[in-house]
Amino acid sequence: MDTREIISDIRENDKNLNSFIILDTEGLAGKNRASGGVLAGRRIAVKSNMCVEGLPATCASKTLENYIAPYDAAVVEAVKRNGGLIVGLANMDEFACGASGETSYFGPTQNPRAPGFIPGGSSSGSAAAVSAGLVDIALGSDTGGSIRNPASHCGVAGFKPTYGLVSRYGLIDMAMSLDQIGPLAKDVRDVALMMDVIAGHDHRDGVSLPVGKQDCQFSKNLNPELKGRRLGYAQEFDRLIADGGIRKTIHNAVDNLSSAGAEIVDISLPNLEKSLPTYYLNVYVEFYSATRKFDGRRYGLRIEDACGEEVLRRILLGSYISQKEYSGRYYRKALQARSVIRNELSFAMKDVDVIIGPTVPKLPHKIGTRIDDPMVMYAYDIFTTPVNLAGLPAGSVPAGTVDGIPTGLQVIGKPLGDQTVLDVMHGFQLLG
Ligand code: GLN
Repeated sequence: MDTREIISDIRENDKNLNSFIILDTEGLAGKNRASGGVLAGRRIAVKSNMCVEGLPATCASKTLENYIAPYDAAVVEAVKRNGGLIVGLANMDEFACGASGETSYFGPTQNPRAPGFIPGGSSSGSAAAVSAGLVDIALGSDTGGSIRNPASHCGVAGFKPTYGLVSRYGLIDMAMSLDQIGPLAKDVRDVALMMDVIAGHDHRDGVSLPVGKQDCQFSKNLNPELKGRRLGYAQEFDRLIADGGIRKTIHNAVDNLSSAGAEIVDISLPNLEKSLPTYYLNVYVEFYSATRKFDGRRYGLRIEDACGEEVLRRILLGSYISQKEYSGRYYRKALQARSVIRNELSFAMKDVDVIIGPTVPKLPHKIGTRIDDPMVMYAYDIFTTPVNLAGLPAGSVPAGTVDGIPTGLQVIGKPLGDQTVLDVMHGFQLLG
């Protein structure tokens, strides 16, 4: 099949899914693509908050509906340099604010594994396109769970690297101290392969870590051996998992890892619950600041005039909290709470290689379910947000299904312990 046929095939199969906002029918993403490389022949989806030169970078918002990216994001350059075929830009929650994929201006995405249910978000289209087999690998972004949450609901693997390991140059930020780009694929080996391509230092991202390309050979070093690995499981997980089926699936996963020779270590994360308010307070303030450039002059429309309800809520709350007289009361507290959570995680990991546990606390809801209380939506993020607050690497790997709906096992690593997380995910996936 040539590129044109591949894309028209995807268009046909995406009709009921809506996992793409833009398909590259004109071949614009082909500019600067190498003819060979480790991604040659692989179909790649890119989340709509990353710049692909010549294509609209919409962030799934009316605000940027007609904004054309003037350059390639660092990760997009890397994909092209390695011969990957970028087929289009994936659907997502508006400006990555959400956990369901329903806040997109371009309509919700279906869950290919559970029709009628949300695929999770905010990298909803990236996970759905992989799950439906429309692409081999997708890029998503994860600020508080947006790669791992949809990976879990759609039955694919998704990985959020250590903060600063993958360049954010050309990513339209949501909350820059938390945002991280990462891959989704069915097989952890493909996740690792994409990490080889996108990880490593980039001087154009101010928080990029000084990690050389030679230290980013994740796929080559992938080691599925589970024997002797020390895996921490927090007692708090059991209380906070809101669904009995998910609890059972995660317990099964833990048992399987233990039978394969891993040592399960009890750990405790007493402040786990505080990660939600801590995360959202940080996000409101950073997101408000990130959106000030969308004032209608340079990029698209004025965001407050064009955005949906959830984005507006965050802008309003962010502006309120940012006002001088409130800053000490909310934001500074949130920063303090953030270091408590970071310290707690680093203490809990002293004695183990990784933490294992659930990715999501509850099953996805039906598309279109009326949710009046934002806390109900935010509740999906309880197990994923602490990881971003601490800047750690973590992935979700399929662990089984509950009533036919997939759910994932989350593996959380130490700073720059990305290889170990991928190893455990791979080892677990091979158990079948
Ligand atoms: N669901 C979380 C939020 O809405 C996470 C979003 C993300 O990771 N981009 O903020």
